[in-house]
Amino acid sequence: MEYGPSVEDSGAVREWLAGHPRWGHFIGGKFTKPGKGFDTIDPATGEVLAHISQGTVGDVTAAVRAARRAQPGWAKLSGHERARFIYAIARTIQKRERFLSVLETMDNGKPIRESRDIDIPLVVRHFYHHAGWAELRDSEFPDHAPLGVCGQIIPWNFPLLMLAWKIAPALAAGNTVVLKPAEYTPLTALAFAEICAAVGLPAGVVNIVTGDGETGAALVDAKVDKIAFTGSTEVGRAIRAATAGSGKRLTLELGGKSPFVVMPDADLDAAVEGVVDSIWFNQGQVCCAGSRILVAEQVADAFETRLRHRLSHLRMGPPLDKSTDIGAIVHPVQKARIEAIVAEGIAAGAELVGGETGDGCFIAPGYLKNITPANPAMAQEIFGPIATLSSFRNADEAVELANNTRYGLAASVWSESAAVATDIAAQIRAGVVWVNCANLFDAAAPFGGMRESGFGREGGRVGMLDYLAPPPVKPAKAADAG
Ligand code: NAD
Repeated sequence: MEYGPSVEDSGAVREWLAGHPRWGHFIGGKFTKPGKGFDTIDPATGEVLAHISQGTVGDVTAAVRAARRAQPGWAKLSGHERARFIYAIARTIQKRERFLSVLETMDNGKPIRESRDIDIPLVVRHFYHHAGWAELRDSEFPDHAPLGVCGQIIPWNFPLLMLAWKIAPALAAGNTVVLKPAEYTPLTALAFAEICAAVGLPAGVVNIVTGDGETGAALVDAKVDKIAFTGSTEVGRAIRAATAGSGKRLTLELGGKSPFVVMPDADLDAAVEGVVDSIWFNQGQVCCAGSRILVAEQVADAFETRLRHRLSHLRMGPPLDKSTDIGAIVHPVQKARIEAIVAEGIAAGAELVGGETGDGCFIAPGYLKNITPANPAMAQEIFGPIATLSSFRNADEAVELANNTRYGLAASVWSESAAVATDIAAQIRAGVVWVNCANLFDAAAPFGGMRESGFGREGGRVGMLDYLAPPPVKPAKAADAG
């Protein structure tokens, strides 16, 4: 039976958009008057959805002040009281899940099946999970204190989910936040602000300032106690330089070029399905996408035959259609970026299978084969639905190729032998290694990278520690002067 939101459900969202053609920021529990800014579009149709305000230094300062004023009161609530608010947020998102999945799909271009079955349920789970941490904070971290005001900057690929990853642990720990959503996808963050108001969250605990990288840079420079950033390695590096020596805590979740390793004894059909979940999920706009497929040479031909067959059955089309597998790329600028890297890869000798570019923001899924390790498309994050496909001779070479990257976010290993899989997994330098699966997330499982994929963890107990100040170090007793 077909169920869930589809194109016919976009009516409620259209009504909401018609009622809110221009948006201000959400500061101190209220929306400000809309100011100068930019339009956010539906990338699948090019339709303008709403006008968004460009946050100025003044807006950021006002938001940080509101967060600062609210923080002591929020931190003083009992864990149970904070948990009740976080539960109420989770519950309200759950009640509005059809609305939010359609809105997310319209603003981002991702297939409705993904926003309905993956993004929004994970958002809800994240808030429920962290309501639990609010309850447990005092008993689990009795000597820790909240950090204060957290500035949070997120990307456009999982707009509401990245918001949840940032806001839920910050609030559970007793911090208040100023969050800047990505300029391409601000709408679910604004709908979230309405939810904060609807559940009676104290004014100033959550503030949302919209805008582009300039607004983000203003937030990095503002009087906040922590910056939590998810986005590109390039911007992460600039933020690290800007915060150096400032005393601000920093966590960075950056890019990736994650290996997808198929051992000779892998279940090839399962592994091919894994590729669909890994690089063709969300049009490949996934930081931990298994974008470098590495296959044992004994099974390389058999794997590619299956892969090509599966590729030919993926349906690219209107994101609001429930049968669509591949939706739109988020923005024409991103589409051009993907095309440029793929063209570079072809110029360096690789052969493209699939990957045709369509009208508007559409790019069909595909992969680059006959590609050498020195090809630029092997090193650069394409952030689109195009993988690279190459083979290895033995386990040592598989590990060597897997680690031949400046990133270290994720990896996926496919083998029917637990011993082989865990042996390979342990040698791959990445924050998360999946075995016989890919892109599985859980609010209780910390996620984050190493090397140029960043530092810090989001989710679970370890993620909570990134929003808490450690107990002060007691001075060591002076040595007995004798
Ligand atoms: P981006 O770095 O261009 O932008 C991310 C956010 O930073 C946006 O909100 C943007 O407005 C803001 N920003 C831009 N310049 C800034 C500056 N100088 N100072 C402060 N903020 C600034 O990245 P993107 O194109 O939106 O997202 C794609 C990238 O994000 C990819 O590289 C992807 O791998 C990465 N990503 C990583 C994770 C993860 O968890 N590791 C998750 C999702 C996306």
